Amino acid sequence: GPLSTADIREKYLQFFQSKGHLHLPSYSTIAPDPTTLFTVAGMQPFKEQFMGAPAVFDGAASKRVTTAQKCVRVGDIENVGRTRRHLSLFEMMGNFSFGDYFKKDAIHWAWEFLTSPEWMGMDGSKLYVTIYEDDDEAFMHWTQEIGIDPSHVHRFGADENFWPADAPKEGPNGPCGPCSEIFYDRGPKYGDDSWADYAETRESARFLEIWNLVFPQFDRQEPLPDGTPVLKNLPFKNIDTGMGLERVASVVQDVPDFYSNDVFLPIIQKVAELSSQPYEGEVSVSHRVVAEHIRSVSMVVADGSVPSNTGRGYVVRKILRRACRHAYLLGLREPSLYKLVPLVVAGMSSAYPELRDNQAKVEATIRAEEESFLRTLEGGIQRLGKLLTGMERGATLSGNDAFILYDTYGFPVDLTKEIAEEYGISVDEAGYAESLENAQNLARAGSKYGKSELFGGNMEALDGLSPTVFVGYDDLQAEGEVV
Ligand code: ATP
Ligand code: MG
Ligand code: MG
Ligand code: MG
Repeated sequence: GPLSTADIREKYLQFFQSKGHLHLPSYSTIAPDPTTLFTVAGMQPFKEQFMGAPAVFDGAASKRVTTAQKCVRVGDIENVGRTRRHLSLFEMMGNFSFGDYFKKDAIHWAWEFLTSPEWMGMDGSKLYVTIYEDDDEAFMHWTQEIGIDPSHVHRFGADENFWPADAPKEGPNGPCGPCSEIFYDRGPKYGDDSWADYAETRESARFLEIWNLVFPQFDRQEPLPDGTPVLKNLPFKNIDTGMGLERVASVVQDVPDFYSNDVFLPIIQKVAELSSQPYEGEVSVSHRVVAEHIRSVSMVVADGSVPSNTGRGYVVRKILRRACRHAYLLGLREPSLYKLVPLVVAGMSSAYPELRDNQAKVEATIRAEEESFLRTLEGGIQRLGKLLTGMERGATLSGNDAFILYDTYGFPVDLTKEIAEEYGISVDEAGYAESLENAQNLARAGSKYGKSELFGGNMEALDGLSPTVFVGYDDLQAEGEVV
């Protein structure tokens, strides 16, 4: 049968160990430095080494390191359910060089790992790459040495092919550099767009980004007062790569998305069983959100994050309450999410034993949050009931009322619609969308951070939101099956 997710993780680590890399354990999901709340990339624990600090880890010196890093991206929470390629918790496989090998080896090894029958065995003709606009060196390695068809290569500017994204323009400061990304063409059954269309729109269901090879050679300083970026050379050139484990697993297992793979399917099935709602049709987005979010919440709580009204804890609460709302939409009226924890533990604790070690704490934390959120939802239901009994059949509930229910009680508009229907009352959805947008604009205007998805974006998702607001401005309505 096809390789399991665990097999792929193991093979990656083996492959890079065979190329002289030291295997280090994953760092915690709690970020090693204050630029982010959670660890967002495999490179984050190694910033000092990229900057020139000695590459010695627990007494072992090695300029080559490989890891499977658990990553949480706050900016992607709302993408879960909306796209099929974003998870809020994912594993980034990485190989790193601290002033040792550079571009050529990084490119050759990525190609070997993906295409050699001994390793991933992908068909090389299905692979496409992007490079930074002036990176002729990368172009040469890809086309002349690897032999990839030049029509499979596209050059992008800093917004796509510099990491962290937009670093030359808006930070954050620290190690950065041009990158080269590898995409897999999943074929016409996923979409009828072409590689040229992807280059135009930068959005595709068919061309899936699986690996980012970053070439950190600059140390970004504070920009000049007029905004001119200042990129200082690092003491040496580095390699930082990130391969999305779950994305590669979808390709290798030839399944349409994460949710039919060996990690998620058992959780999805349990959600269907608990809710008596088969995993199909429009409601299936709720199965996916619940399954995905329970996995990330379990991990961050195991790592010591606690739901609260500020900072990291606020994000944990936000993810968990988003899962609660979807569980509610599936008809679950009693705490149920905590019953999924044993499946997360069973699926992931061989690689992440901290899950098993903290299982009781994780279950108790989730259960307590569910209880309190269900009470909040009941408050919303009572308030809605009062509004509706005062209205005539055929009337319309104002968009602002629906928004207040959402904003104050975390009450999803889908539920509002469903309950209003029982009274023969419709909901002004356009008005709701308008109120929501106004609130979002207010939140954004209050943000002092840039638009960078990874760093600024992280903070932006929180900034301007009052800590007493129970859920973020993520919108169930926006969760169509776009990608
Ligand atoms: P995308 O453009 O799809 O949002 P990205 O460019 O933000 O991805 P990188 O920062 O380059 O991603 O991260 C390296 C790799 O990690 C990606 O090529 C992808 O395989 C994987 N990855 C990134 N974000 C996610 C996510 N939210 N869920 C699953 N895998 C991800
Ligand atoms: Mg990308
Ligand atoms: Mg990328
Ligand atoms: Mg992204």
